[in-house]
Parts: sequence; structure tokens; C-alpha cells
Amino acid sequence: MAMFSGKTALITGSGAGIGRATALKFAAEGANVVVSDIHAAGGEETVAMIHKAGGRAMFQLADVSDSADVAALVAGAVDEYGRLDCAVNNAGIEGRIAPLGDQTEANYDAIMAINAKGTFLCLREEIRHMLAEGGGAIVNLSSVAGLIGFPGLSPYVASKHAVIGMTRNAALEYGKAGIRVNAVCPGGIDTRMLDSLADQATGGSRSSQQMMDPLHPIGHIGTPEEVANLIVWLCSPEASFMLGAVIPVDGGFVAQ
Ligand code: NAD
Repeated sequence: MAMFSGKTALITGSGAGIGRATALKFAAEGANVVVSDIHAAGGEETVAMIHKAGGRAMFQLADVSDSADVAALVAGAVDEYGRLDCAVNNAGIEGRIAPLGDQTEANYDAIMAINAKGTFLCLREEIRHMLAEGGGAIVNLSSVAGLIGFPGLSPYVASKHAVIGMTRNAALEYGKAGIRVNAVCPGGIDTRMLDSLADQATGGSRSSQQMMDPLHPIGHIGTPEEVANLIVWLCSPEASFMLGAVIPVDGGFVAQ
């Protein structure tokens, strides 16, 4: 029997990139998948991909920085599938690259609203439902930028450090209630986000592979599926003793 048969998994920002790969992996493992994104087209496409592969999924539009949207998202998941077992707080933005002295307040606010406050709002709502059901597993998307600094990315770095702090706190507060909260810290992963960062850093003169491959000790950037494998494992019964962990999945980036 598939590992997540009869379980429900909710993934924010799953209309593209790492979130989509995670949604597809959960579906392949038998979960009922709640695909959510601020952009309907990408989310509907992920659902269509899951249906085509014979899986079960629904789409719900939600902006993770809006508490009413987040409450409706979790309630919608429970309405449709009866319960919430796994949640992946993945939605995030990279914002604009600039040294701190040139950063705008608007860029800081936008990044913190989605990456930090969005993770807080989602955690809060997911935990409330999981408490009522007696447990669950949650994975937050931090980054190698949650572990070390990256010149030009101060608001993003701050937001991803915040995600690690919230992960640890939630783990301490709810571990005994059967809710396991962990964080993953990807290195460079081949998605739109990394393309945008490479574009901004090189003025479009180099691709994300050209710019980022040599920076990873393994010799190349990663795929969304390589992050999804870790996320789905962390939500599985095989990870039953994983709590409050902060795990790089980064081709050796932070080992340097
Ligand atoms: P992506 O840009 O490819 O996908 C992000 C998805 O989130 C998009 O579908 C987007 O529409 C959605 N989204 C954006 N704002 C939203 C909001 N307010 N509410 C709901 N959905 C929203 O990015 P990705 O590379 O797949 O990144 C996923 C996560 O992984 C992010 O949290 C990112 O910070 C993190 N991450 C990515 C990398 C990388 O190299 N790609 C590295 C480390 C961490």
C-alpha cells in the first residue's frame, strides 16, 4: 500500500517549482493532495498533472500572507478530505537584490509578509487543526539563506532565518502533542526563483546553471524533485523521531 494512502497533504505555493514537485510526490505516494497557490493557472496545472497520473488532488487559491485566505485554505482541505495530516509551508518570494543600504522598505515588507508571516499564519492554522486530530507532520521551507548570509539578499536571508526560529519553537511547543515540525534548507534548485536571482545578479548574461553550478561542491544545482524527496520523507512514519530538525539539501553548499 502507498505510504500516504488515506492521508491528506497540503502544500502552499504548489503551482510551480519545489511545491509542485512535492505535490506530485505526495500524490504518487497515495495522498489526497491540496494544491494551493496565489496564481490559479499554475495550481490548476499541478492538479491536472496529478489527475493525469491517477492521483487525487484539489486546488484552492490562497495568498499565504492573508490570514482569512489561510483559514479558508485549511478549512477547505478538511472539508474536502476530512482531515489534515501533512502540511508543507513552501510559498515564498526572493524579492530584489541590493546591498542593505539600498534595500527598499517595500521589498522588505513584501518578502517578510510572504516568507515569514505567511509561514506563521499557515503554521498557526495547521497546528490548530492537527491538535484536534491528535497529530500531524509539517515541513517549512527555509533555505541555505536561513543558515548563512548572502550579500544582496538581506530581507530574504532575514525571512529564512525567521522560518528556522519558528520551526524550532513550534517543534518544542507541539512535539508532545504528536505534531512534528521540521525545516529543510535547499541550496540552488532549478526553478523560476533561481533564474530570477541569476538574472538580477548577472543582468541576464548568465543562466542559473552557469552562475550557480560551480558554487556547489557536488558540481551542480539541484532539482525540485531532490528537495521533494526529503520533504515527503520528513512527513512519513519513517521520520517518526525527526522533530525541530533543520536539514540542508544543498549539494554540500553549507559544508564549505
Ligand atoms: P517558485 O518561484 O518556482 O515557486 C514559488 C511558488 O509560490 C509559485 O507558484 C508562486 O506563485 C507561489 N507564491 C508566491 N507568493 C505566494 C503567496 N503570497 N501565496 C501563495 N503562493 C505564493 O520558487 P521555488 O524555487 O519553488 O521556491 C519554493 C520555496 O523554496 C520558497 O520558499 C523558496 O524560498 C525556497 N527555496 C528555493 C530555492 C531555490 O534555489 N529555488 C532555494 C532555497 C529555498
